[in-house]
Amino acid sequence: MVGVMIDITRLKDVENRLRRQATELARSNKDLEQFAYVASHDLKEPLRMVTSFVQMLKRKYEGRLDLDADDYIRYAVDGAARMHSLIDDLLTYSHVDRKTEPFELTDLNVVLRKVVQNLAELTRESSASITALELPTVMADPIQMGQLLQNLIANAIKYRDPAVPPRIRIEAEQGEGHWIFSVQDNGIGIAPEFSERIFKLFQRLHTKEEYPGTGIGLAICKRISERHGGRIWVESSPGRGSTFYFALPKRESWPSLRTVNFM
Ligand code: ADP
Repeated sequence: MVGVMIDITRLKDVENRLRRQATELARSNKDLEQFAYVASHDLKEPLRMVTSFVQMLKRKYEGRLDLDADDYIRYAVDGAARMHSLIDDLLTYSHVDRKTEPFELTDLNVVLRKVVQNLAELTRESSASITALELPTVMADPIQMGQLLQNLIANAIKYRDPAVPPRIRIEAEQGEGHWIFSVQDNGIGIAPEFSERIFKLFQRLHTKEEYPGTGIGLAICKRISERHGGRIWVESSPGRGSTFYFALPKRESWPSLRTVNFM
């Protein structure tokens, strides 16, 4: 009889170390989320105070001091406004996973209509055209679906090619057990080496002077997709427009429902 003995002590050690590291990582992520939530929440009140006083300063003293003073006041007002959007976006980001309500049947055509209404002014100013094919009804958080679509469409308008009016097309395609949604634009595009980085918190490819923004929008989209058991990605190249995709698993066993209006 011939036997073989393999010493797996080292393998077990590595496995244990990996497990400990994973637990540690999950804990520090949770801490970070908690920190982001508390910090952004508590920062709102002092910021409100700073904002209202610098605005008052602007109203009362703009043009009555010297030119430098006018500039300083303007920087302070702009800074406060930027911080306000950062805090709002951070709060939205840390809220994504805090929601505990069950998903509900969500007609994405209704959600999209509302998003298009919210963006009406931006669309008019930029002469953008937004078209969509019929979208399905899915089990989801309707508010978060709105945030996801709104961020993608607003970006499609923001990162437009200055030479042509923005054209945005939204589609849904049925896959095996999931839906794939796409938001396609004819904007400035993104170099392939940045296609993962843009979904990370605070990652931007432009300065705030070129394009305003906080670098949180796509991180919110990623979190929303993942909370729904899906994922998000982009296909793009500079000067050729971008298509953002997100996939959502089909959660219900019945086919997608269409809303029937009886009135
Ligand atoms: P923000 O727009 O506030 O910078 P986002 O997280 O929404 O933050 O986007 C991250 C970066 O991805 C942007 O700074 C921009 O460079 C790039 N980006 C996002 N959407 C598009 C798009 N439709 N076309 C080209 N670039 C885009």
